[in-house]
Amino acid sequence: MIIDLRSDTVTLPGKAMLAAMHNAPLGDDVFNEDPTVNRLQEYAADMFGMEAALFCPSGTMTNQIAIKTHTSPGDELICDALSHIYNYEGGGISFNSGVQVRLLSGNNGQINATQVEEAINPNFDWLTKTSLVCLENTVNKAGGSIYQFTDIQNIKDVCLNYNLRLHLDGARLFNALVETGESPEQYGKVFDSVSICLSKGLGAPVGSILLGNTEFIARARRVRKVFGGGMRQAGVLAAAGIFALQNNVNRLKEDHEKAQEIGRALEKVEYVNKLLPVETNIVIFEVRPDLHPEIIVEALKRKNILCTTFGKKSIRMVTHMDISHEMCSVVCQSIQEIQL
Ligand SMILES: *Cc1c(COP(=O)(O)O)cnc(C)c1O
Repeated sequence: MIIDLRSDTVTLPGKAMLAAMHNAPLGDDVFNEDPTVNRLQEYAADMFGMEAALFCPSGTMTNQIAIKTHTSPGDELICDALSHIYNYEGGGISFNSGVQVRLLSGNNGQINATQVEEAINPNFDWLTKTSLVCLENTVNKAGGSIYQFTDIQNIKDVCLNYNLRLHLDGARLFNALVETGESPEQYGKVFDSVSICLSKGLGAPVGSILLGNTEFIARARRVRKVFGGGMRQAGVLAAAGIFALQNNVNRLKEDHEKAQEIGRALEKVEYVNKLLPVETNIVIFEVRPDLHPEIIVEALKRKNILCTTFGKKSIRMVTHMDISHEMCSVVCQSIQEIQL
């Protein structure tokens, strides 16, 4: 038995999800004629109280489409130095949109309204035009940390004052929502666009959704085609997305409990130097300075437990729906047993 904690993207669709995919009515979505894609988009838009939604192959694509649609070449966007759009999307901000980045160092990947306001360029011909702020919730690189909603609202006020758009990389937004009890509608009201991933903790094999108003999504649709993301009988994938949104949101709590358990096991061992607070389903820990994280990854691999190094000093483990209670117990025990 392999226990795969490398990412929450490794989940496989179960029988019920596969049945939903099998039974989905299909059409050509480039002609807007796939009933299942249309249903997923309407369902997601309703959930967030937003006007429209766009189904895309990946979260990288939904983020990159949002950036392209909100900006013009030569603009600047503001984000935290840990953000996925900056670190893990292959330089797409400059490649796709010709936009430069003003990186801020927030707290656990979270920037605040004062920092944002100070980073906005005044309106002079010779200064770069600031046009977009991007937030991430939960923050992957900060160990799945959760934003305070009031901090987001304060940033929104700054955006309104300076006429900036506000985008959310909500790849794991539902992990935050099940912890805070906040609703998708609250997020729909504050953000000009939201990206959510169906293929992370929600367990769908493929797909992300971009949400916004009707005019924004119409322009985003054109960009999606240019980026090569216009899919044909995509309802077969959208059906998995509908199933995921209807069945797999509340159970994210279980993933968080398992991450907590793993966190508690890591607190007891001497090879861990520092454990980031475990707020959702991501566990990140720094190893003792005299050890290379790869040694621990390899030791766990010999026990059939897969995880990844994260930067030069740390290791990341991610819980998800294919990690059972038994597997979680094996992980906790193995963490304490490995010989270095
Ligand atoms: C996974 C992820 C994405 C999108 O990744 P894809 O693999 O392209 O779907 C975007 N943002 C964050 C924070 C992520 O964790």
